[in-house]
Amino acid sequence: MRPDTDCILHVALPIGQGRLFDYRLPEQDGQTAHNRPALQPGIRVRVPFRRRELTGLVVSLGASPDSSRRLRPALAVLDTSPLLPESLLQLTLWSADYYHYDLGPLLLQSLPALLRAGQSTARPPCTIWRAQHNAAAGKTLADSRAEKQKAVWATLCAQPEGIADDALKAAGIERPLLRQLVRRGLAEQISTTAPSTPFDSYTPLLKNPPLTLNSQQQSALDAMVSRPPGFSVTLLQGITGSGKTEVYLQAIERALTAGTQTLVMVPEINLTPQMLARFQARFHTPVAVLHSGLSERQRLHNWLAAQRGEAGIVLATRSGIFVPLPQPGLIIVDEEHDLSYKQQERGARLCARNLALVRGKLESVPVLLGSATPCLESLHNAGSRRFYHEKLGQRAGAAREPELVVIDTRRQQLEGGLTATSLNAMHHCLARGEQVLVFLNRRGYAPTVICDDCGGLVDCPACDARLTVHKRPPELRCHHCDHRQPLPDRCPACASPRLCPTGIGTERTEDILARHFHATEILRVDRDSMSRKGAFTAVMDKIKTGKPAILLGTQMLTKGHHFPAVTLVVIVNADAGLFSADFRGPERTGQMILQVAGRAGRGDRQGKVLIQTANPGNSLLQTLITQGYDAFARHLLEQRRSLSLPPFAHLALISAEAPELTAVTRFLADSAALARQLASPDSEDPAVLVTGPLPAPLERRQGRLRWQLHLRSASRAALHQLLRPLVARMRAQPPVNGLRWAVDVDPQEMG
Ligand code: ADP
Ligand code: ZN
Ligand code: ZN
Repeated sequence: MRPDTDCILHVALPIGQGRLFDYRLPEQDGQTAHNRPALQPGIRVRVPFRRRELTGLVVSLGASPDSSRRLRPALAVLDTSPLLPESLLQLTLWSADYYHYDLGPLLLQSLPALLRAGQSTARPPCTIWRAQHNAAAGKTLADSRAEKQKAVWATLCAQPEGIADDALKAAGIERPLLRQLVRRGLAEQISTTAPSTPFDSYTPLLKNPPLTLNSQQQSALDAMVSRPPGFSVTLLQGITGSGKTEVYLQAIERALTAGTQTLVMVPEINLTPQMLARFQARFHTPVAVLHSGLSERQRLHNWLAAQRGEAGIVLATRSGIFVPLPQPGLIIVDEEHDLSYKQQERGARLCARNLALVRGKLESVPVLLGSATPCLESLHNAGSRRFYHEKLGQRAGAAREPELVVIDTRRQQLEGGLTATSLNAMHHCLARGEQVLVFLNRRGYAPTVICDDCGGLVDCPACDARLTVHKRPPELRCHHCDHRQPLPDRCPACASPRLCPTGIGTERTEDILARHFHATEILRVDRDSMSRKGAFTAVMDKIKTGKPAILLGTQMLTKGHHFPAVTLVVIVNADAGLFSADFRGPERTGQMILQVAGRAGRGDRQGKVLIQTANPGNSLLQTLITQGYDAFARHLLEQRRSLSLPPFAHLALISAEAPELTAVTRFLADSAALARQLASPDSEDPAVLVTGPLPAPLERRQGRLRWQLHLRSASRAALHQLLRPLVARMRAQPPVNGLRWAVDVDPQEMG
């Protein structure tokens, strides 16, 4: 037998069957190919699958069992070198195991769609012009009066390896001139592939000098760079505006100096332009951006720039955690507490923050987590010394911390949700020529419509939810399934015409603000007003002019944006989340309040934050406001410990949904029985506690009934030991019509 004929390929395919597929090596001229360029893991192959052809990725090679003759051969090998290094294959394997998701689809989804479709990674051809030495012709040219040709020839001679067409064009040298040189025998035109410029060949490294760090920034940076090389995690907890980004920039500078690339994760696409601008202002090395707003062609281009080592910095949202880097040196996760790092709906319920830690370990590089309001898990890890903890407690530069003021909304006349005190403060702020931010986490005009005669509400026909009133355009809308219907004239229950929109949404507050502040520009930022491409940038441009304006919006505004002219922030419904059924509600609310508050006074004038609440005496709110985030988080961690909730226990959620209730409950009851059996064949005190089946908090959505099982364990290992056989058995069950189910490990929202 030839050396590699007894070799088989284990191939990941975009097919959810929980396993890899085996193929023989491709055949050439009817024979099994040998001596082919080393087939390795990470290479794409074209394979037959049933009656189709698919593109898959080789995960490993194995010796063939005797039965391999019956395996089908792969049809073609698509790459000459691996698309993914070993570390990233490992990262995907780890993810599939930890999140109990199918390896094949997970691995293929981590590639740009064009690569999934089999497109070549070869770079496009380009033309190079090169000087040719020809003494006689050179002399003729020198004696002639063709000054332009002489200049071009001198340019070409200065670069003996040739100059790319594009570069010449950029320098104003057009093709006709070059062709004249070719005719004289003094230049040649060569077709080649575009050269790859390594990320570290840009000199000097810095385009602009770094800021002088203040002492806290300096000691945080010093602590990080003084650590032995390799994997470590640093939690950089710095209040908003304390200069975390400047610390990132200088850490990236060290990484670049050491000849390595940095992967920077941001929670959402809207934050990329601001961060990109800061990177590009500082460094010459290219920055590759990866987010959901790219065309497939751009995504492939940027992904390859990272993969080939042409970009020194990669700036990515959640899915970018899987981008391969040949010279990884540092991973930064900005706003590490942000819920967007966790995939909530559809697909693998991955958490990019956690994957960053695993990736750091696999690639032996340091990981830097930054936030003003770290998640409780990270604070717990810092507390137990698994993470280094660096703090920035004061604002960088001239900015000072905003003043927080609680406003009691009880027994007050509210207009658009705002108290007279808030409106007054807004008037003064605008009169001083400054900007105001009003935070109201509810889009639409009014959250409900109530009949004044029978008290009836209008429900979504497909969900257990009220319809929200929208004015622009006028309609009723479901925020869970996007069902839309015209505003009714009469109550669907009693036909009374006295239907009354009740409660406050951003559109309603916008109307009321427009009446109060007619001369002022009001910029509403929520999912409805920002759905057009470029809408967010347009708002940011207006804000940047610094002219008086009111910025009114939902949590889209709370992320790390820099609004230097905003000096007043009004938080309308600050405390709603403190009383939510979800155990993470208070944590999220505290983070949100401080993140919104942090938008105030980022310039040189001090900011003020008005926190409107109907529960001014709430002890959590008091702790947050008077003692700060650390005390608030300590308090919550104590609660979590006493209730055995994360991070003191590990959770998984198995959710199922179908149009038929019985299909869902039967499936989950079977799974629960199996889980209980696996958890504790005969013990009183099982390692994993199984609760359910229970209805999800929103039991019916889009006409589908949704139920859950909760699994909880003090031991992460025990939880996964149970999940592995459980999920395998669930997968092996014959599919039930219309039933969908998913496993969510470390769930962040209870659905
Ligand atoms: P964060 O990321 O913590 O919110 P930034 O890095 O955006 O903070 O910094 C807030 C502002 O302070 C920015 O305008 C930044 O240019 C400025 N800044 C940061 N560090 C310094 C420094 N050491 N000296 C002067 N200004 C600084
Ligand atoms: Zn009615
Ligand atoms: Zn609905």
